[in-house]
Amino acid sequence: MTPDVTVIGGGVIGLAIAWRAAQRGMTVTLLDPAPGSGASHAAAGMLAPINESHFGEDRLRGLLLASAARWPSFAEELTEATGQDIGYRTDGTLVVALTDDDKRELDRAWAYHTSLGLPALPLRPRQARTLEPALSPRIRAAVSTPDDHQVDPRRLVTALRAAALAAGVRIDHRRVRRLDEITAGQIVVAAGCASADLTGLPVRPVKGQILRLRAPDGSPGFSRVLRGFVDGRIVYLVPRLDGEVVVGATAEERGHDVTVTAGAVYELLRAATDLVPELTEYQLVEAIAGLRPGTPDNAPLLGRLDDRVVVATGHFRHGVLLTPVTADALAHVLTKGDIPEVIADFDPRRFPASQPRKVAGPLKEEEGDEDPTQR
Ligand SMILES: Cc1cc2nc3c(=O)[nH]c(=O)nc-3n(C[C@H](O)[C@H](O)[C@H](O)COP(=O)(O)OP(=O)(O)OC[C@H]3O[C@@H](n4cnc5c(N)ncnc54)[C@H](O)[C@@H]3O)c2cc1C
Repeated sequence: MTPDVTVIGGGVIGLAIAWRAAQRGMTVTLLDPAPGSGASHAAAGMLAPINESHFGEDRLRGLLLASAARWPSFAEELTEATGQDIGYRTDGTLVVALTDDDKRELDRAWAYHTSLGLPALPLRPRQARTLEPALSPRIRAAVSTPDDHQVDPRRLVTALRAAALAAGVRIDHRRVRRLDEITAGQIVVAAGCASADLTGLPVRPVKGQILRLRAPDGSPGFSRVLRGFVDGRIVYLVPRLDGEVVVGATAEERGHDVTVTAGAVYELLRAATDLVPELTEYQLVEAIAGLRPGTPDNAPLLGRLDDRVVVATGHFRHGVLLTPVTADALAHVLTKGDIPEVIADFDPRRFPASQPRKVAGPLKEEEGDEDPTQR
């Protein structure tokens, strides 16, 4: 039977759209040779509309805040639907600075966020260390952003997959080479960086190297996400209840290269241990690189390409945060046909598309492909 919708790509974006569309009564097939293996596998999982609000990105900020507002109910519904813990935590984020120059950077960010009316509360270093005693005594300044939260993206992928399957989505481990091979009534392109080849849209890979550490006693010595300005570098530390600490991340323009380099691991660890010295005793369990789907204006591509093809990609640094709003809005597009106001500014046709390329690789099911969501 031809499904109503075929979703191409099973990262957080494609899985969430498939789930929402199936909940609204559509028959949905999702195609991906290795669901959850893309950027969603590398992501830290910060839900940070405040600290990710940057100068000149006003429309994007609106979308980040809209999605952040949906996260509590989204997390609750997903947890209820699957019985799975997705590691959603609302302990907040502390931003700290190590040197005088770093403090100037932090002050600039604080002034900017405050001018926008975003909640960002300056703390004395001693107050910050009372909240998080694991912080280095060298910190010079701190700002609390209680509304920046976190989720575990790998758990999120696993739960979304379970929810999608339970709602009736069929997941097929196939790589799509061209859109014209698909017979469904509507097509959603949610293939992360590979969306460029399928649509010709300007989505480019932005490499991020990122580490995972594990606390020796199974529990990190801090509970908030820590973001540090450290000797001119920015590093973040995301603590999980299961003892994991994510240390991220680089941002590099290197095409599709996913090599992990000694220099990046060194720089990340140096900044991380400058911020929280006890991390030197943690186990280094993983160093990987993922490819963020970037766009020319750092904002996603959401909406119709033509009568049949809908696009949900280019989420760059914010795909996990933007999952709830993207899924709800795209399910609306698929079921009602019109474009909801919340995504009206993110029309994929705002950039000229080049000619789509044929995606390399077999069309058939790719047996033996590792599926990280099954680990
Ligand atoms: C190091 C790093 C840290 C990050 N940290 C954060 C963070 O803290 N917070 C946040 O909100 N975001 C973060 N991000 C960004 C976030 O990971 C992405 O925006 C998000 O994962 C994009 O999801 P996606 O589903 O669009 O793409 P992906 O997760 O890349 O999924 C795309 C899927 O498409 C499949 N696919 C590709 N080609 C085809 C094809 N031809 N046919 C079928 N399937 C195909 C792939 O197998 C893949 O599973 C981070 C990213 C990186 C790299």
